[in-house]
This record gives sequence, structure tokens and C-alpha cells, in this order.
Amino acid sequence: MAQKIQSVKGMNDLLPVEQKDFKLTAAFWQAFEDTVTRWTKSYGYQQIRTPIVEQTGLFVRSIGEETDVVGKEMYTFSDSNDALSLSLRPEGTASCLRAVVEHNLLYNNPQKLWYMGPMFRRERPQKGRYRQFHQVGIEALGFEGPDIDAEIVAMSADLWQKLGIAEHLTLEINSLGNREERAAHRAALVAYLSSHEEKLDEDSKRRLKTNPLRVLDSKNPDLQDICNAAPRLTDYLGEESLAHYQRFKAMLGGLNIAYVENPRLVRGLDYYNHTVFEWTTDKLGAQATVCGGGRYDGLIEELGGKPAASIGFAMGIERLLLLVAEYGSLQADAAPDVYTVHQSEGADLQAMKYAQTLRAAGFNVLQHSGYQSLKAQMKKADNSGARFVLIVAQDELAAQTVTLKDMQGKHPQQTVAAADLIHTLQQWKNA
Ligand code: ATP
Ligand code: MG
Repeated sequence: MAQKIQSVKGMNDLLPVEQKDFKLTAAFWQAFEDTVTRWTKSYGYQQIRTPIVEQTGLFVRSIGEETDVVGKEMYTFSDSNDALSLSLRPEGTASCLRAVVEHNLLYNNPQKLWYMGPMFRRERPQKGRYRQFHQVGIEALGFEGPDIDAEIVAMSADLWQKLGIAEHLTLEINSLGNREERAAHRAALVAYLSSHEEKLDEDSKRRLKTNPLRVLDSKNPDLQDICNAAPRLTDYLGEESLAHYQRFKAMLGGLNIAYVENPRLVRGLDYYNHTVFEWTTDKLGAQATVCGGGRYDGLIEELGGKPAASIGFAMGIERLLLLVAEYGSLQADAAPDVYTVHQSEGADLQAMKYAQTLRAAGFNVLQHSGYQSLKAQMKKADNSGARFVLIVAQDELAAQTVTLKDMQGKHPQQTVAAADLIHTLQQWKNA
């Protein structure tokens, strides 16, 4: 036998059934996608779909060369025909804004957009951390806030309610202020951290040079005291920034959304300013953040567009669904409504015709394929999870009837005229 080829490490198949080390099924995923589609629509957000491959320069410019994502996690290659460097997208915001600028979508109107799809980062795979993972993201472009800041946070909170996981998530917020305020804070932070440099770990020493704010993000327990005592960005906010932050908080309060202020919340990507937030859980070990976002008012201009205030967030679908599968209320809906069973010559065709009639009336119908004993077919019907079974055997074929069986046993088995098929099943279903 030829040797089997394995999937790429950190990249998962989504199957109809649960796998040993990856519990999410395609049907469960699809139920989530349906929920997300309805949820975004209910807020008036429109979907945008961009390519998975972009020019590497897009991510270098938007996310920042010094970030882990661009510095060491991207899948980058050169297209064989020219020297252009391309990358698999590691996140969705850069592509979304590239498209908005390219097609001039902000010409007349601000935009409320959403996207969903695979992202790629070469990280160490573990539960809740993969090399191909998936995100749903929101981008509200051309709005100054703070009202929109509150809207998108409320929108995320609403989704947690719909998925039945609200009680397992905590909202953390912070304000990073504007460019000048961050610069003033940065100077104070660098002076402070430099005076403690001998106590920093290698990662933090490197970040002190490249992106000092990120030192505050360190998960190293030995650094917690130093980080907690570091100068706080919130103390450097001017009047306008503070007013924005206060109104944002007041609106969250008015919407009954509980939050924790975390002065050390800085987010991993370089482009954020003013409002930032994360939704975290204590149920997924180290992979605690399921959703993160914030304001990135300068990014569109940086990508060659006219300046436009912007805010957005992205959630990791795998992490979210691991949580939902264990604690949430979302149900996968994979079973057909009806399984059609047929026996005797010509019954295969007749059953297929009934199946088409039923589908046209809105039923999901799984037709038995192949020729087996009635008993074997009934077993397959049972395994399929179908609520009803439709049987066409010799008698039914001759009399133009069908025999219907309710697998939940709520109605006695019944043979009805073919003309009454839909009516009877509709009654059974709604009873
Ligand atoms: P983390 O600190 O966990 O690495 P991040 O700050 O790199 O997250 P973002 O770039 O803000 O994450 O992406 C938004 C969300 O996407 C994260 O909160 C997480 O839920 C999800 N996510 C990020 N990287 C991965 C990954 N490698 N595998 C699965 N989900 C991921
Ligand atoms: Mg990361």
C-alpha cells in the first residue's frame, strides 16, 4: 500500500464526526456560522470577503515588523513568476482595510463590515492555538466614537448570550490614548523599565528596545510586580482622550455590560489607540482570550486611504467553539427530517420522487442508496438520526401509498395516500 499523507501540523480537518483530539464537528461549526450571519445582519453589518493571500508588505506596514505575528509567525513565499513576496493572511483587518481603500468604499459613507475565514500563523500548536485558525471580525470604519465603541462591545456581548457562554467571559478594557500621549507614556515607561533592566527576562529586554508597551503584556510571573508598578497609560491621557474613555464606560454601564479596567491591556498588534478591549475566559487554560479589539484611527491613512477613524474586533472561532461545546447552548443540526426506505422493483425511483416532493415542501430528506433488506435499511435510518421514515415497498407501490414511521414514537405507524404525504408529515412535525 502507498504511504499515507498526513495533514499539516496545526491545521485541522472539520469532519461530520468528533475526533479524538479535536472535538469540533462541521455541523457544529455551521450552526455557529448561521448564528453569526443572523447576528451581524441584525446589527446592519455587511459581509466582506477578501483573498487569503496578500502582498507581504500589507502586513508589514499595518501590523508592524516588530510584532511576533509579522516577525516570526507568517507563512511567506515568493510567487514563482516574479519577485513579489506574498503571505497567507495572519489576521483580517489589514486585508479588509486594503480592500476598502482600493475600492474607495468610504467615499460617501462610513462602513459597518464583518468577515469570517481562515487565518495563518506559524505558532506552537496546542489546544486553542493552531497554525490555521479561524476568525470572525467586525470593522466599523469612519466613526469617531465613543458611541460605536460601545456598540461593538455590546454586539459581542449579545453574541455570547446567543451562544450561552456569557457567564464564562470577562470583559477587560483600557484606553491607549492618542499618539502624543502614548509617546509621553513610552518615554516614562522606558526610563522605568531601564532602571529595572537587570530583572527583566530576555523577551522583555528585546521588547524594551522594539515595543516597550508590550513588556506590560508579559505573562512571566516574576515580572508581575515590576509591571504592576510601571507608569500607567491612563495617567497620561489628556482631556479629550479621557472624555472619550469616560463616555465609553458610561455607555457600557447604561447597557448593563460589566467590565474590568486593566491598565496593562495593550493588545498584540501595533496599530491600536484609544479604546482597547479583550474578552477572556478561565476555562481554556493559557489560551484565555477569545476576542480582542479596539480603535485604530491611523491605520487607513497608513494604508494610503483618506484618514478615517476606525474600530473593530476579531474573535477566534476554535477557542469560542471549544467553550460553547462544553458550556454553551448551540446545537448542531445535522440529522435529516426524513429517511426514505424502498424495497421491490421500481420502489427506488418512487421513493426518490417522494423525496423530491418533500424537499420542495421544506423537509430535509436522506434517501437510502443501494439495495438492502428492509431491516438493514431501518437500521441505517435509525443511525441517521432522522425523525421520520418513509417506506415504499411492494404494497405501497401498488396502492400509491406510503408508510410513515415516527422514530420518536409520538405517532403510530400509518399508511397514507401519496397525496396526503406532506400534509401528514407536517402535522406530525408540528404536533
Ligand atoms: P494570543 O495572545 O492568544 O496569541 P493574539 O493577541 O495573538 O492572541 P489576535 O491577533 O488579537 O490574537 O486575534 C484575535 C483572536 O484570534 C484571539 O483572541 C484568539 O481568540 C484568536 N487567535 C489568535 N491566534 C490564534 C491561534 N494561533 N489559534 C487559534 N486562535 C487564535
Ligand atoms: Mg498571538
